[in-house]
Amino acid sequence: MNQRVKIEVRGIVQGVGFRPYIYRLAQRFHLTGNILNSESGVAIEIQGTAPDIDSFLRALPLEAPPLAQLHEISTARIDPRIGPSEESAFLILPSTRSSSANTLISPDIATCKDCATELLDPSDRRYLYPFINCTNCGPRFTIVRSIPYDRAQTSMASFRMCPACQAEYDDPLNRRFHAQPNACWDCGPQLELVDRAGAPPPGDPLAETIRLLKQGSIVAIKGLGGFHLAVDAHQPEAVQELRRRKGRGEKPFAIMVRDPSAASELCLLTQRDTASLESVQRPIVLLSKRTAAFDFLAPDGNHLGLFLPYTPLHHLLFANTGLTALVMTSANLSEEPIAIDNREALTRLSTIADFFLFHNRDILLRCDDSVVQNLPGRTQFVRRSRGFVPAPIQLHESMPSILAVGGELKNTICVSRGRYAFLGQHIGDLENLSAYDFFQESIHHLQQILEVSPKIIAYDLHPGYLSTQWAHNQHDTHLVGVQHHHAHIASCMAENQLTGKVIGIALDGTGYGTDGTAWGGEILVADLQNFERAAHLAYTPMPGNAQAIHEPWRMALSHLWQTFGDDWRDHLPPSLLATLPRPAVKLVEQMLHTGTNSPLTSSCGRLFDAVAALACQRLTVSYEAQAAIALEACCDPRTNLGAYPFAIEGAACLQIDARPLFTAIVEDLHHDVAPGIISRRFHDGLADILTEATLRIVQRTGLDHVCLSGGVFLNAILSNALETRLVRAGCTVFTHSQVPPGDGGLSLGQLLIAAHQR
Ligand SMILES: [Zn+2]
Ligand SMILES: [Zn+2]
Ligand SMILES: [Zn+2]
Repeated sequence: MNQRVKIEVRGIVQGVGFRPYIYRLAQRFHLTGNILNSESGVAIEIQGTAPDIDSFLRALPLEAPPLAQLHEISTARIDPRIGPSEESAFLILPSTRSSSANTLISPDIATCKDCATELLDPSDRRYLYPFINCTNCGPRFTIVRSIPYDRAQTSMASFRMCPACQAEYDDPLNRRFHAQPNACWDCGPQLELVDRAGAPPPGDPLAETIRLLKQGSIVAIKGLGGFHLAVDAHQPEAVQELRRRKGRGEKPFAIMVRDPSAASELCLLTQRDTASLESVQRPIVLLSKRTAAFDFLAPDGNHLGLFLPYTPLHHLLFANTGLTALVMTSANLSEEPIAIDNREALTRLSTIADFFLFHNRDILLRCDDSVVQNLPGRTQFVRRSRGFVPAPIQLHESMPSILAVGGELKNTICVSRGRYAFLGQHIGDLENLSAYDFFQESIHHLQQILEVSPKIIAYDLHPGYLSTQWAHNQHDTHLVGVQHHHAHIASCMAENQLTGKVIGIALDGTGYGTDGTAWGGEILVADLQNFERAAHLAYTPMPGNAQAIHEPWRMALSHLWQTFGDDWRDHLPPSLLATLPRPAVKLVEQMLHTGTNSPLTSSCGRLFDAVAALACQRLTVSYEAQAAIALEACCDPRTNLGAYPFAIEGAACLQIDARPLFTAIVEDLHHDVAPGIISRRFHDGLADILTEATLRIVQRTGLDHVCLSGGVFLNAILSNALETRLVRAGCTVFTHSQVPPGDGGLSLGQLLIAAHQR
């Protein structure tokens, strides 16, 4: 006796080879029925014997295609079709336009094993074709104009499939069934190499590119979500030349390596690191340098960012070419968005790149590489972008449609639809017009592919942020201003599906406080509606405001002045005093006295700067968090070196006083204590005092759930030290694993708070 079952699958199941997968599965278990794309995913009906149906249902989630994300599977018994209405086969039914409303578009995914094999198989018709792909891999998000996701709505629309490609596209048993970017040598996109003048040098574009790279040239290479500037990572002079032309001081470069074995020549890899490198998203993975020989790639820290080839073109750059590692840095001038358009690249990058490797498949939306690091027990995002966007984050409940516009630095936006929050790609620092254009473009695009137009907008309280100003310029919308650190904590709550009250430790560089000062070392008691500031680092002046961020010695001087008063000089070892820039010191002293241009801050990032300036003589920096990275990098691994003291003052709102810390550091400097030991004592002292303050709040409130958020938690040493202490003291600790702890995750928290404050 045959049975019939109706199955609904929600999640990322369209454009990822899911229907042919179900088709093959139905055939394997001798089932009839059908499948079609539905409102929220796919709807399947199957009919057959009970054991066959059971086997089908067991296999369904286990063997799903790599890009599919199954969020929910529901099944219901329905009446079998018998008699004249009985089917003889399993059918893929056409989807209708109206069924696109709740579908999810897949992120861009690295070339799969099957395609990589075909790419290098001389007998395959796509041998060495740089745009080979299938339903299991290839571009998605970056080539989609709007939904439904079919070829006409992508930048492949201008390429007409040849009969051979079309036959694959139409065959449900083929790996390229409905693979929208399907193409080959005969019908698809092609490469073109040009010099700065736009003229093509003779020869095959790819072979010539490889020759130029081996010669030490800088080539701008069009990729999946934008251009990279590429140079052979084993040629220090070429790398220095790229640094010089790009105006990139000491900031580390990301390196694309041929394979995991080439990665382990540069860095030490754990099994988890290899798994992260080889994951279908192919993020940049921060890894420990093997030797100082590669310091020219990343001078400050212990880490190098490595990633594996993720497009067929990347694979070809390394396939039997002798190249094993390429610097592949986002093609832009300093903080501008990554270039995506051929002509735009030629104009914007003509002073940096010697040659340009173009192709004629348009990138419709720029999307930078993602960056992750592995901490004990979890993988943490530094930047969540290509490969992950626009996969949603599941929320604890359904939300109205809301747009959250993020902060200023490392901006991302976030849009909700039902139980999903869609975090957009990395936009970067909203400090210039082109970043602002990109910001607006990404708001428009995300709304378009999700088919929502939110009437509620959440923004940061900082009146000067461009994102805040954009929000205030929108009409007919309900605006919700959200405090920066409250948003950080809510973002951690969202991904851990917490809804009640928690204690939130938010540590970062800066965020606008409700008293108008720059907060950044905060312990909040918060839920998704409100927060109370329960503790913070004591206020310290930032002499020269933004200048104090670029010149950490100013923060050191500010702390020394607070600790020792006007005769702070007498307390310093003369050798250290001699390193300070004398005329500027006079000016800073004046500022501290009068309070001019010296806004108050409770920033934890600035505290790291001050300590790094003293311990590592990091007097100035050329990129964000550079001093803190140097301090973390030199940290002594031993944990029994003692911890520096802080003091706690106040009752209702605790204040953490750093004066005992600076007295102790200066004492150690007099005794020539090594920077690594000072660094360790500082990290442990900070973890101790944050734990103590938290436990006092635990005692007062009875809460024991603690959320850790903010960019400072990218520091693995502090994260581990604090987490260990809190857990030992009986707290349940929640951290980030789906969005970055830094400002890249801010918009998710803003969105949740706006939903609950409404
Ligand atoms: Zn493939
Ligand atoms: Zn073709
Ligand atoms: Zn922040």
